[in-house]
Amino acid sequence: MSFINESPTDFTIEENRTKMTSALQAVDEAIKQGEISAAPVVMGTLLTPQKWAERVDPSDSTVIVGKVGYCSEKQAVEALASLYEFFPTWRATPFEQRAQIVRTAGDSMAKLRFELSALIVRETGKPWKEADADVAEAIDFCRYYSNEMERIGHPRKLGDALGESNWYFYQPRGIVSVISPWNFPIAIACGMTVAALVTGNVVAFKPAEQSSLIASKLVEILHQSGIPQEALAFLPGEGEVIGATLVRDSRVSMICFTGSKEVGLQIIQEKAKVHPGQKHLKKVIAELGGKNAIIVDEDADVDEAIKGVLYSAFGYAGQKCSACSRAIIVGTAYEVFVNRIKEAASDLIIGNALDPSVFLGPVIDLESQSRIFKIIAQAERECKLLFKGDAPSVGSYVPVTIFYDVSQDSFIWNEEIFGPVLACAKADTFKNAVEMANNSQYALTGAVFSRSPANIKFATENFRVGNLYINRGSTGALVYRQPFGGFALSGIGTKAGGPDYLLQFVEPRTVTENTMRRGFSPDLL
Ligand code: NAD
Repeated sequence: MSFINESPTDFTIEENRTKMTSALQAVDEAIKQGEISAAPVVMGTLLTPQKWAERVDPSDSTVIVGKVGYCSEKQAVEALASLYEFFPTWRATPFEQRAQIVRTAGDSMAKLRFELSALIVRETGKPWKEADADVAEAIDFCRYYSNEMERIGHPRKLGDALGESNWYFYQPRGIVSVISPWNFPIAIACGMTVAALVTGNVVAFKPAEQSSLIASKLVEILHQSGIPQEALAFLPGEGEVIGATLVRDSRVSMICFTGSKEVGLQIIQEKAKVHPGQKHLKKVIAELGGKNAIIVDEDADVDEAIKGVLYSAFGYAGQKCSACSRAIIVGTAYEVFVNRIKEAASDLIIGNALDPSVFLGPVIDLESQSRIFKIIAQAERECKLLFKGDAPSVGSYVPVTIFYDVSQDSFIWNEEIFGPVLACAKADTFKNAVEMANNSQYALTGAVFSRSPANIKFATENFRVGNLYINRGSTGALVYRQPFGGFALSGIGTKAGGPDYLLQFVEPRTVTENTMRRGFSPDLL
């Protein structure tokens, strides 16, 4: 079946603006009525949570968007027991049926596009366009992985030796624990969950604490579309408690994680332990951080480069694993670039994500804001500040901040900040720029602005990152067209939204039959 990406919503069209405004008004009304909440759901039962946590609107810390019920460790363990029991039933469900259910879920999300985007705006402070892209990506994942399951689901006959038949096919692994981040609150959670389900696994899903409200909607849509209640448990809770339980339990076969390097490394260590009664080796997919560079060549179109760097560095306040946080500018272009980016950055509009004219909203929460403030303060002492913008004071806002002549030894050159902070440095030659870009613990995304075919070829061969973009920014990978994921300390696993992704959720089996037999025996009654 052919695949076409869901188009972004064009908010220059009045009808779309009106629909989004109405959806935001409906969410606002629900917030005022205290109607928005999420709680654990296991086997179709809404559980009484162990405790409730309030979710504050990042754009305005005086507003509580909703409350999230955290499940207890005991509830999580019981959920795993029920998933384990149901696994053989879901495994035996024909793959065509599983694919159709997931496709239906994508179609339902398309119908609820504005409602889902509006909740994302309020819960995570994503501006309209970014929230809309998040929902579009979730829809793409549903449709693409359904197609992919139909492609790989049929057993394949191998070899043509006489007297023998060989069949090669895939079986699901068992329970997959899906542990998701908040920065693509529906897309990443949905992609990991539906990949596991469509391949016949059962799923214990723990969303990030900061984005559990939209995650609860996702689960509701999946269940309404036909995913059996017994095949998908929704287990919101604290990472160190519920996340850790879903990693440790001996019944879990696979952990599908997207998040920070620190947590990813802990999970990889933990999965190596074989607990009493465990009869399998656990598999981990870990999609982690980045410290992505954009190289601006001496002959680059500076207007294009500035636009690409600004969007990649400051879109969603720099809180994308693919965000550009290092700009490396070659030779004489450096001075021009630095002057121009300073001017252009001062035009970026920062404010409440409710406002459609806003370019960047707040960061995810006050804790993240204070962490980034400390990093900026340290960098201001150690590096040269080029630009620092303004920011509203009522939410968790961080101003756009740019440093220049940044040394390759400094903290801000090497560590993922996950905020609107950009470090610029000069390279003498293009080759030198590629070396500087590669000199990182991470290898996720990168981009090059250049008009030189020789340098573009050099970058293609030598700029070693999972996703390299030429003459465009480093963010915004689309399902199927730019399968996404990195290597080095950026993670382990094949690319999300790509042709190899589903193969990670299955185990291949081969069955060989000697066909040189003398008739069949009658079936014994
Ligand atoms: P995080 O690691 O803090 O949390 C991710 C998830 O892990 C959350 O659900 C959290 O509750 C859970 N968790 C926390 N401690 C745990 C533990 N001990 N055991 C099990 N689970 C635990 O990350 P975040 O702040 O939500 O997301 C930001 C990070 O994610 C950044 O580093 C970013 O680069 C990365 N990210 C990577 C990709 C990618 O595709 N490579 C995509 C998005 C985000």
